[in-house]
Amino acid sequence: MTAEIIDGKGFAAKVTDRVADHVSRLKTDHGVTPGLAVVLVGEDPASQVYVSSKGKRTKESGMASFEHRLDAAASEMDLLNLIERLNGDPAVHGILVQLPLPGHLDDAKVINAIAPEKDVDGFHVSNVGLLGTGQKSMVPCTPLGCLMMLRERHGSLSGLDAVVIGRSNIVGKPMAQLLLGDSCTVTVAHSRTKDLPEVVRRADIVVAAVGRPEIVPGGWIKEGATVIDVGINRVDAGGGKTRLVGDVEFDGARRRAGAITPVPGGVGPMTIACLLANTVTACCRINGLPEPEGLAV
Ligand code: NAD
Repeated sequence: MTAEIIDGKGFAAKVTDRVADHVSRLKTDHGVTPGLAVVLVGEDPASQVYVSSKGKRTKESGMASFEHRLDAAASEMDLLNLIERLNGDPAVHGILVQLPLPGHLDDAKVINAIAPEKDVDGFHVSNVGLLGTGQKSMVPCTPLGCLMMLRERHGSLSGLDAVVIGRSNIVGKPMAQLLLGDSCTVTVAHSRTKDLPEVVRRADIVVAAVGRPEIVPGGWIKEGATVIDVGINRVDAGGGKTRLVGDVEFDGARRRAGAITPVPGGVGPMTIACLLANTVTACCRINGLPEPEGLAV
């Protein structure tokens, strides 16, 4: 068997097109322009790249982008004051604080200061609770993108055995909640799981979110399973070069799986597309307008 490659890049382009269509309709029919504010504290080079690219993509889809860069030494009060101002700003429908924050700032306190309806990352404790109790919430972007790709491939996920490897608050746990919401039988595996090969072998759906290069050998994958590889790992490619690999050994898994996301070009592009989707969804909910089809759960 040779797995179908799930084209995350192509799928993300379709989601982004749908977002742009809806943004244009919101502008012409309702005079509303969705706006996303991204807050960066400090000069971490990777975070700077992410923030610039989020701003660029936001503008490309017709939305307003607001960038706030604070000095690495900014106080908690400076940051909380900024968030309070953005919470009350009617031009801002989504607020994202780029993580990780410098060590002297408390991530949880800062995230929980964001108005839940503007929390487009879905990390606020209210959104976590709403998702956990099966209510309408803002859903974290990476798991939302994974769910969209799974629904596209399977239609109904009801009754399928799913394993999520990794239990982080940003990927593993919300992914497990979403799969449960779609009536999968869900196992969450993690660093203390006793027999990971056995857990993976019985899964119809494998979502790997560990951050260890090729920790899942292809031979573990059940014939015909769908593999969603969230991991992004930079490894030595020889000759002083590096390359990106996922958490799943791609070539081996491809020979057994029914479908698999590549790294790069799989989950990554869907994450930013879902950030744009969440911003439009937040804008519609805040303004009491109908939400676009298929961009939220
Ligand atoms: P994290 O470090 O917060 O969590 C990793 C999880 O893996 C932990 O829950 C841990 O229990 C589990 N784990 C560690 N070692 C394990 C082992 N040997 N066996 C089984 N489980 C083990 O990481 P995260 O933030 O959830 O990210 C995971 C990966 O996904 C990283 O590579 C990250 O770069 C990537 N990521 C990608 C995107 C994207 O858009 N594509 C978004 C977020 C994260």
